[in-house]
Amino acid sequence: MNKNSSNIMALTPNTSNKRETVCIFGTGDFGRALGHKMIQSGYPVVYGSRSTQISNLIPKDAEVLGHAEAAQKAAVIIIAIQRQHYNFLTSLSQVLHGKVLVDISNNLKLKQYPESNAEYLAQLLPGSKVVKGFNTVSAWALQSGTLDASRQVFICGDDVEAKQMVMNIVHGLGLTPVDKGSLLAAQEIENYPLQLFPMWKFPIFLSLGLGLFFFFYSLALDVIHTYVYDNNNFSFFIAITIPNRVFPVLALTLFGLVYLPGIFAAIIQLYRGTKYRRFPDWLDRWMLARKQLGLIALALASLHAVFTLVTPLRPYSSWRTSNRIISQVLNNETVSLNHTNAWLIDSYLAMGMLGLFLFVLLGITSLPSVSNSVNWREFRFIQSKVGYLALILCTAHTMIFGGKWFLNPSAYKWYLPDIYMLSLVVPCAVLVVKFVLIFPCVDKHLTRIRQGWERNPRYSE
Ligand code: NAP
Repeated sequence: MNKNSSNIMALTPNTSNKRETVCIFGTGDFGRALGHKMIQSGYPVVYGSRSTQISNLIPKDAEVLGHAEAAQKAAVIIIAIQRQHYNFLTSLSQVLHGKVLVDISNNLKLKQYPESNAEYLAQLLPGSKVVKGFNTVSAWALQSGTLDASRQVFICGDDVEAKQMVMNIVHGLGLTPVDKGSLLAAQEIENYPLQLFPMWKFPIFLSLGLGLFFFFYSLALDVIHTYVYDNNNFSFFIAITIPNRVFPVLALTLFGLVYLPGIFAAIIQLYRGTKYRRFPDWLDRWMLARKQLGLIALALASLHAVFTLVTPLRPYSSWRTSNRIISQVLNNETVSLNHTNAWLIDSYLAMGMLGLFLFVLLGITSLPSVSNSVNWREFRFIQSKVGYLALILCTAHTMIFGGKWFLNPSAYKWYLPDIYMLSLVVPCAVLVVKFVLIFPCVDKHLTRIRQGWERNPRYSE
């Protein structure tokens, strides 16, 4: 093997404070932005380009040379070129032998090529050490210094030392390297920038679907039914009244759906008598979406609180209040305070406010900055115990709101239950089954299973 001095340099991680020269192939948007950042961080930069003419866009202190000449000056070469132009690199295989090549490329769509760009580069130049990295950082963020939200740089590669050298550079730029393993992980890293909120798709589509269903349900019962039977046009309900019925109903349903997969998981474990068998895929995916479902539910519950606060400002509310007062005056009626009603309404409001408060607490503790500062037991206590308490309060809030209307036939327009009754289905089912699961005999059995006990052990001791 031809081991020249720069090849030996490529395999020697830098332990001194002196920054080694870094070579960047390509003086395009990303190459220039990364070069700027490197020079700011004290790295001498040499560009390998098709044209050695210095333009004023290129960082002032950088050198621009031909590819072969530039490559000889550094151990690490960043390939800031689109994948479709990689072929010319094979003509440089001699000079690139033993060098660390950093593939930073992205594709335009998922599965554009059979293999990842980094693996393709490694196939073209088998004598070089290919490391994938920097592709999740944008040229714009590098140049504008807005890297606060995404300081992580995912790195992968087969050569441990080469990977360490690239991670040192990432550190040197003030960023955080995240080792994702061997070059096999390159495909996954290349897919990151192409994904659009992957964890949010299912929760958003589910919320939209349920939201539309509840909207039309409420429209039918609160506007169309009133128009057909009482000839009252309440179409303006579409602006505030109906959304303020849909938001809490959807929020409570989604909140219930956050805890429902945990219930299914417990039932499956009890039924199978082991925790060592995988849950069905749909349940795994549902469990992974719990945080997003909870956050959407929290947003809707907050909207419900805001919409409720503006309710007294609406002309419809003042019209109803003044009509009631005028009719009492005309009929010379005095209405004494109904204490039962006062109790019910005050407790309904109190439950709602306390439920929302705990719900906000759950939302805050799901933020990575907060969840990282509590231990696992504290996190579980908040998400499970406090979470169930919030669910109980929110369910009680809705039940008390319904009050005696549950038994009143006039509450069932077109023989259909009112929309708030629908919102109780999932949370009540969750709470009832959870109540059974915390019975000592069931809970003890489930705890044993979760500690590794099996009804039919696969391996005898
Ligand atoms: P760009 O502006 O189009 O620059 C690419 C550079 O490649 C050109 O300036 C050119 O440099 C060189 N090049 C073009 N055709 C070539 C050929 N036929 N042979 C040899 N060299 C050629 O692209 P970019 O935005 O900088 O992106 C470069 C790479 O970084 C891409 O793989 C991209 O996926 C990746 N990336 C970009 C960003 C971003 O925000 N832009 C973010 C992450 C990753 P010379 O004229 O100096 O030879």
